[in-house]
Amino acid sequence: MVALDRYVRQTILPEIGPEGQRKLSAATVAIIGLGALGTVSAGLLARAGVGHLKLVDRDVVELTNLQRQVLFDEKDMDLPKAEVAAKKLRAVNSSVTIEGVSKDIHAANIESVLAGVGLVVDGTDNMELRFLLNEIAIARGFPWVYGGAIATQGMVMGILPGTTACFRCFLPQMPPPGSLPTCDTAGILNTVSSIVGSLQATEGIKLLLGQRPSGELLVFDGWANELQRLRVSRRKDCPACVKRETEYLGAKRGQVIAALCGSQTISIDPAHKGEIDLAGIEARLRPLGPVKSLGSVLVFDAGDAVITIFSDGRALIRGTDDPQRARSLYAKYIGM
Ligand SMILES: [Zn+2]
Repeated sequence: MVALDRYVRQTILPEIGPEGQRKLSAATVAIIGLGALGTVSAGLLARAGVGHLKLVDRDVVELTNLQRQVLFDEKDMDLPKAEVAAKKLRAVNSSVTIEGVSKDIHAANIESVLAGVGLVVDGTDNMELRFLLNEIAIARGFPWVYGGAIATQGMVMGILPGTTACFRCFLPQMPPPGSLPTCDTAGILNTVSSIVGSLQATEGIKLLLGQRPSGELLVFDGWANELQRLRVSRRKDCPACVKRETEYLGAKRGQVIAALCGSQTISIDPAHKGEIDLAGIEARLRPLGPVKSLGSVLVFDAGDAVITIFSDGRALIRGTDDPQRARSLYAKYIGM
């Protein structure tokens, strides 16, 4: 039973109506990445009454996020984004279920993280994760909404496997590392990232209501006021949606090390599964340097690097972009 009053401003729209509202209420949506795009789309989907939201992010809140990531404030520094975003949105709409998932998504865990999910909104900033998401969306047949924003430009596309072009029809090969600009190198206008998040939420709502996506990539420049709709055709030899190759999904690894969007941070996800003893680690680290417990995470200052440790054993190593150094710091202070 859905309390329709709360949503009256959208249920009077012929595009939604009470029937559409019931579909939204019955839906489970994952937002992967709670940056500029993900915080906007998650906020709008929670307010619109999507019944179950999974908010997934591997990072913690930093000061430079506040310029554009609309669910965070100054009191949230160093806390896991997924946890903070879920708490804020539960206060916005207590009639829907909102789950925060502080995980680094990769081939070994994407199936369990996305279990039961009927739509994914892409708030990630990395191509490898999009290629992986594209493969699982094809395997499971669920739609997803690609989004990207850099400088004053944005792109959005709703993807329904088997109907529209998939992400690899659009981009057949992974661009080499360092070949694309990042938020760190090119910057981002906060109005543009908010537009992209809003457009993604709109595409998401339409897909949840059963509307067939246009198959077009929407490209715009928020400074020049230019908007283009580009038709993306399905590729006859697409390795993903035609040949059904699972190049990324099949690469199930044990320990996973990933560099975060040019920010001198490495994420290490150990092969170990399950909770670790954060209190025990805190006690062991105390003689070695400043360590603080923020409830679900520990933050340890190792001098030339800051290590954030999550309760499932994952860690963010800040102050290096060298995976080997990050791995040795993890081994030294946490152990593997
Ligand atoms: Zn394809």
